[in-house]
Amino acid sequence: MDIKFLGTGGAFDTDYLNSAALLEFRGMNLLIDCGFTVFPALVRKNLIQKVNHIILTHLHNDHCGSLANLLLYKSIVEKSPKPVIIYPSEQFKQQLCVFLEIQVKDPDKYADFVPLEQFDGITCVDTYGKHSEGMQTYSYIFEDEEKRIAYSGDLSRPEVLFDRLHKMPDIKTCVFHDITFTPDNVGHTYYKKLLPYMNGVEMYGYHCDPTKNPSDNPIRLVFYQQELMA
Ligand SMILES: [Zn+2]
Ligand SMILES: [Zn+2]
Repeated sequence: MDIKFLGTGGAFDTDYLNSAALLEFRGMNLLIDCGFTVFPALVRKNLIQKVNHIILTHLHNDHCGSLANLLLYKSIVEKSPKPVIIYPSEQFKQQLCVFLEIQVKDPDKYADFVPLEQFDGITCVDTYGKHSEGMQTYSYIFEDEEKRIAYSGDLSRPEVLFDRLHKMPDIKTCVFHDITFTPDNVGHTYYKKLLPYMNGVEMYGYHCDPTKNPSDNPIRLVFYQQELMA
């Protein structure tokens, strides 16, 4: 299982591109989120042809804004088989289809939609309303024989993800968590709220402007980890 980030910025940190990652997992090349900077980043890095599965944490534009471009490109330019979009709930699939129908008319022509239950080793954590009021959001946990990766998505209440992780068998776990350095940011997790959860896991922060990182923050930022960047 290998994860490479395509960007690590927050919604407005365009210098650091939208937070998204390409995960090699159980034979898939799974794109986690597809915000408005992701399609051009994939093309620029020559990685777009690798993407064969897609999973989204939520439908804010910095997480899904270039999905239609990616689907159209795969069909029209690459002429590759339809990518699989893994969806965590019927309701989320409906929302995603409404979003795509406006842009591509018939989403089924460009992607195969498959429910998450059909994939071994992926757990979704429903984080509804814990990033933005009334907004459906998810965290995901990916697991193979030797390792577990947790990906928070946008989340201001880290306890929901860590409660789930603490109920799982003890294996090497790496947590990628959104992070903010502003205590009054209610949509994301203030770094000090993550400190109690650092024991026993490898933790990295993303979805931030790394230049704002306070000197007393012990959580490593994905942005500075060369080996985690695509
Ligand atoms: Zn975001
Ligand atoms: Zn968001």
